[in-house]
Amino acid sequence: MSQPRRDSKWWGWGEPANVPELDAAALTTLRERIGEIEAQPRKAELGDFKLPAPAPLPQNVIDAVGGEGVFTGAEDRLRHATGCGYVDLARLRSGRLEAAPDAVVLPADADAVRRVLDACAAEGVAVVPFGGGTSVVGGVEPLRGAHSRLISLDLAALREVEVDRRSLTARLGAGLRGPEAEAELAKQGLVLGHYPQSFEYATIGGFAATRSAGQASSGYGRFDALVSSVRLIAPAGELETLETPHTAAGPALRELVIGSEGVFGIIPDVTVRVRPAPRQRRYEAWIAESFEAGAEIVRGLAQGSGLPDVMRLSDEEETEVSLALSGPRGVTGKAFNGYLGLRRRRGGCLMIVGHEGDEESVARRRALAVRELRRGGAAYLGRSAGRSWEHSRFQGPYLRDTLMEMGAMVETLETSHTWSRLGELHTAVAAAIRGSLAAQGTPGFVFSHLSHAYADGASLYFTYIARARHEAAVEQWQAVKRAASEAIVATGGTITHHHAVGRDHAPYMEAEVGQTGIDVLRAVKDQLDPTGIMNPGKLIR
Ligand SMILES: Cc1cc2nc3c(=O)[nH]c(=O)nc-3n(C[C@H](O)[C@H](O)[C@H](O)COP(=O)(O)OP(=O)(O)OC[C@H]3O[C@@H](n4cnc5c(N)ncnc54)[C@H](O)[C@@H]3O)c2cc1C
Repeated sequence: MSQPRRDSKWWGWGEPANVPELDAAALTTLRERIGEIEAQPRKAELGDFKLPAPAPLPQNVIDAVGGEGVFTGAEDRLRHATGCGYVDLARLRSGRLEAAPDAVVLPADADAVRRVLDACAAEGVAVVPFGGGTSVVGGVEPLRGAHSRLISLDLAALREVEVDRRSLTARLGAGLRGPEAEAELAKQGLVLGHYPQSFEYATIGGFAATRSAGQASSGYGRFDALVSSVRLIAPAGELETLETPHTAAGPALRELVIGSEGVFGIIPDVTVRVRPAPRQRRYEAWIAESFEAGAEIVRGLAQGSGLPDVMRLSDEEETEVSLALSGPRGVTGKAFNGYLGLRRRRGGCLMIVGHEGDEESVARRRALAVRELRRGGAAYLGRSAGRSWEHSRFQGPYLRDTLMEMGAMVETLETSHTWSRLGELHTAVAAAIRGSLAAQGTPGFVFSHLSHAYADGASLYFTYIARARHEAAVEQWQAVKRAASEAIVATGGTITHHHAVGRDHAPYMEAEVGQTGIDVLRAVKDQLDPTGIMNPGKLIR
């Protein structure tokens, strides 16, 4: 019998044993930027939480999973009560959690999902679909809407894998985590190529439900572009799109399911396009003269000879912080300093350029990229710096835990725009975050990178670090979120390029899609979920 997973920290990210430390130089840089901070050790232990008593579940909901798949223990409820954004972790670390699901329900297969939804619809029990629980936008928050009972429907047991080697597609169960899906595909010499920073814990169903984008999205495509067909089990019926490469049969229902964030129903599995595993991975680092110069290089590649599989450009501040946090002995730091010394320059913007594939295609595509990089004034920093980024690319969230323990607030947000307005968006959002932090007496360090590029524009990913106002961390975070979101909306950028809408971005959906757009989404929800049990309060309020 499956159990809910308990293999990561309940108060932070990932494996408890992975605890990166900051060296003295990194600490100095941090203090210079955000002032003195006071250590804020985690206050709560698992037993300290006073969760509301769980409302008893109707017997037919319990029967839907044969009684065995219902978990009401405090740890399981707590682990399903939040996602993994800064504000979630701040609440968990302080022991302040007001709401939790009444039970975690773990269906063994898609038939059991159907039975659970039927029972919940009949009884008016709210259902929050739960994949890896890595949402950073409040996507798995237990909001009850009009319902007095709520379950977290954990899809971890949906793990089937069915590969069509000839068509290069694979049907993957929603509950498979990123590494699990890749390991299954690797057995057949295949790769999916979806590597978000949350790769280790996020699931196939979650990727589809949120339109996730991975670090190699320039080459492999965002997750939505990898989906060839999808299924949805909704309270009022089921949708299944054909497994054909394309169809002109009306508006794409596939697109309605992808990004639906659990508000229409459950995605039990997804058929994705896969590729032969690359024989070569070549990651390297370059330095652009400035963010603008680097962005022009990326634009040139996107509109011309083609993007590398990984293409990431840090702005000046992020370049500085990546080097400071990787430590003066870090290979990136050494290579960068060597380069700066040679050029008698004080700065520049780090570019990570990655190619994957067979040797011939890597060599050919790389040669085109190198020509564009040199033409744009970038200088080669070497492969070791690129490899160092590749090997540490999932470490960021672990470092966030370290910084939170030290008393810092660390948060990220993302957006995208056309090339014509990307610079404006970059300036406006950074200024809004800085302004909000300064106004609260906690001046912050704000930096960003461009990491998903297209012929017509690119995404921007912002990180900010500031002294946390411990007792008021949630309000502090809310103020910054509001300021940044308003700046995004005012500039005409999207409220989210890949983190999804969840609870936090729902207030900005009208600006994103207009009132008619909201009405259309609402009408679809009313059709598929007439009693409104599916993930209340997310995507559309
Ligand atoms: C440290 C960190 C780094 C991140 N980096 C990235 C990144 O690089 N790129 C990126 O795109 N995102 C990133 N994210 C955000 C998050 O990981 C993604 O949104 C991811 O796709 C969520 O997957 P999950 O399985 O954890 O879904 P969950 O968090 O469990 O759920 C997300 C939403 O989808 C719904 N849902 C989940 N599974 C299903 C299903 N099978 N059917 C219907 N609805 C479902 C949930 O109800 C919820 O609304 C990051 C998050 C963290 C914490």
